[in-house]
Amino acid sequence: MFNHENLKKRIDLYAMTTFGGEFKQLLDSEKYVVLSKAMMENIVPYWNDSRKETEGMKKAYYLSSEYLLGRFLTNNLIAMDTKDDVKRMLEEMGVDYNEIEESEEDPALGNGGLGRLAACFLDSAATLGYPMDGYGIRYDFGLFKQKIVDGEQVEVADNWTKYGDPWGIRKVSEIVRVTFKGSEIYAVPYDYAVIGYGKKLINTLRLWKAESLEEFDFRAFNDQKYDQAVKAKNDAENIAKVLYPNDSYEEGKKLRLKQQYFFVSASLQDMIRKFKKKDIGLEKFPQFHSIQLNDTHPAVAIPELMRLLTRKEGLGWDEAWAITTATFAYTNHTLLAEALEQWPERYYQELIPQVYDVITKINSMLLEDLRKKGIHDHDLSRYEIIHNGNIRMAWMSIYGSKSINGVARLHTDLLINKELNYWYKLYPEKFNNKTNGITQRRWLLQSNPELSELVTELLGSEEWITDLKKLKDLGKYTNDDEVMERFLDIKGTKKQQLAEYIKQEEGEDIDPDSLFDIQIKRLHEYKRQLLNAFHILYLYYEIKENPEKNTVPRTFIFGAKAAPGYVRAKAIIKFINDIAGLVKNDPLMKGRLKIVFVQNYRVSYAEKLFPAADLSEQISTAGKEASGTGNMKFMLNGAPTIGTYDGANIEIVEEAGEENNYIFGLRVEDIEEIKDTYNPEAIYQNNPKLRRVMDTLIDGTFEDQDGAYRELHNSLLYGAHWHRADNYFILKDFDEYRKTQEKVDIDYRDRLGWARKCWLNMSNSGKFSSDRTIEQYAQDIWNIDKI
Ligand SMILES: *Cc1c(COP(=O)(O)O)cnc(C)c1O
Repeated sequence: MFNHENLKKRIDLYAMTTFGGEFKQLLDSEKYVVLSKAMMENIVPYWNDSRKETEGMKKAYYLSSEYLLGRFLTNNLIAMDTKDDVKRMLEEMGVDYNEIEESEEDPALGNGGLGRLAACFLDSAATLGYPMDGYGIRYDFGLFKQKIVDGEQVEVADNWTKYGDPWGIRKVSEIVRVTFKGSEIYAVPYDYAVIGYGKKLINTLRLWKAESLEEFDFRAFNDQKYDQAVKAKNDAENIAKVLYPNDSYEEGKKLRLKQQYFFVSASLQDMIRKFKKKDIGLEKFPQFHSIQLNDTHPAVAIPELMRLLTRKEGLGWDEAWAITTATFAYTNHTLLAEALEQWPERYYQELIPQVYDVITKINSMLLEDLRKKGIHDHDLSRYEIIHNGNIRMAWMSIYGSKSINGVARLHTDLLINKELNYWYKLYPEKFNNKTNGITQRRWLLQSNPELSELVTELLGSEEWITDLKKLKDLGKYTNDDEVMERFLDIKGTKKQQLAEYIKQEEGEDIDPDSLFDIQIKRLHEYKRQLLNAFHILYLYYEIKENPEKNTVPRTFIFGAKAAPGYVRAKAIIKFINDIAGLVKNDPLMKGRLKIVFVQNYRVSYAEKLFPAADLSEQISTAGKEASGTGNMKFMLNGAPTIGTYDGANIEIVEEAGEENNYIFGLRVEDIEEIKDTYNPEAIYQNNPKLRRVMDTLIDGTFEDQDGAYRELHNSLLYGAHWHRADNYFILKDFDEYRKTQEKVDIDYRDRLGWARKCWLNMSNSGKFSSDRTIEQYAQDIWNIDKI
């Protein structure tokens, strides 16, 4: 029950005891902490009830090294159904809720899609009433904050708990010890409430912080060795210090392995300790636990569970293996061979020899199994978990799990028929598809209240909030011009709001009446931001040549972080910003073209961008994007996709109709066919318009300070020692992309026609709720019941 007076009292009390002042006088970020802490008091009783209610049930456990949660405050207020009350109460106090909301730092404990998926899954499981707890790492510093300085990415540390961590509950009573060779450290749990919408169930996200057993070496301190006195403490705490950005291969590899083992071992020990209190017998462990591995980052869980069961709990090897392989399930997230995790075996030997031992045994068992299955000796090596001095984490995951899933139909088909085909032949029953999804609570209800209200009004119910398929019934309004006008009004409002935010954050003016063409996702060559950039330059030169040419005014918006060590990705950011500058400084482009690269793309920025989009850019090279989830967020907010036949785009257009989207380019089969004879240089020579835009990289149009543009140009025409020319088929797809964009330009002029396309995308997005995905995991893989 919501009680104004109680909450006010608590707010005053926390303001006093935490920040030493009156609530109204505090900084917004302090007000945020105080309000959140006060809300926790409403949440905790429900949370404890949930724990009791799920006590004897089988649970799912999601192991993920990343959680890209986004802000807590509004999400939790909505889930608890107290947002309006709290807003009103603050208003009466003369305090602006929106300013408090905006002062919350995103806990950016993830890189991109994979971490965001974990966050959506937590939300869906709790909302549906499935007992599923998450385990991960409480990094002191999340993914770097990005600034753009002179067009270039600059990374800034992300101290997300600077003002406090009001949602995390430190549970010192449940500390666990994790052993590395020559040292032992504490894993200290911080629990976060995962509140199901309508608070039917509150699950737990448990993030581990690393701490030293010895706070401080007094003897060393007394001997005046100050550095040494704090060394053990620092070494321990370094383990959970930072989230590693994707693709940063060089730095901290060993530390990353330590992170993985640290949180996995702590999580498994936690589960076993709790289970043993029930006196059921460890052989029944799989009847109460299903553990999902979010990619291979937590795959060390397989040998670690074997170790704990055989060496700590005294079970026999075969019994332990039966338990292990009935417990784990593995989600594969990528087809990029270079992204399949491998660890030098000497890292394991040096850091966690006790686990290395177990892995060698698992590997021997695998080879024995394979021989029994009749695999010839000369074919064995491709299956080896330990191979050429490396430990192949994906192979370990496949062998040690009951289920292996891809994240979209095409992705799973490619795993089965191509990448993992020889594994599939051994264990066909293990392989299955679970197309990704997103939570409509954050990605529509919270981020687009205006559209949510219209949807609820037209459907006459809020059921869509927990059953997204209900949106289908909106299809009947597609030819209702009045409804289409209302939709366009709302889109206009969201575009206006985004324009104001971009003005404030980036200092750029954008025209809400122009077409908002948006590409927001991590920066990677396979995602082909460069193709988008080439198209913009193409438009620029077309307008220069034909100033009277009639084109729809467009604003191209990009948001993307590049891994700090990824030189080409950073060059692409600079290139986009150079193009933005070129266009901005050309008076002829005014009212026609505009480019903005927003800084520090993250969940809270995403919540403002998706609802304001007119066009969703999903232009990855076919076969490279496992699923994508950004594509689903655009669809849910009523934006057509311009995209390739890749990942979940295929299923999106299957639901919403190809005629309401813009599909172009090579398909997986086409690439398979041409890849060995592909000659991008011939395309370059024969396509002067493409050549002109490409050559801006080398002809002095833009200053190439460090040769990075030249390198990019070379990579397209001649390749590099690690890849063929134009590895991602940008040149080959360019013309079709450009022509498809011309269709967009024409179609967009028909306002109501365009609105209908948007509407049909939104009303057919029901499949892409993570509620559907979680139902499938729960039923097909985890075999768990709802409360
Ligand atoms: C959804 C999301 C992603 C994933 O986007 P893709 O287009 O699927 O790569 C990455 N980052 C943030 C902040 C997101 O919200």
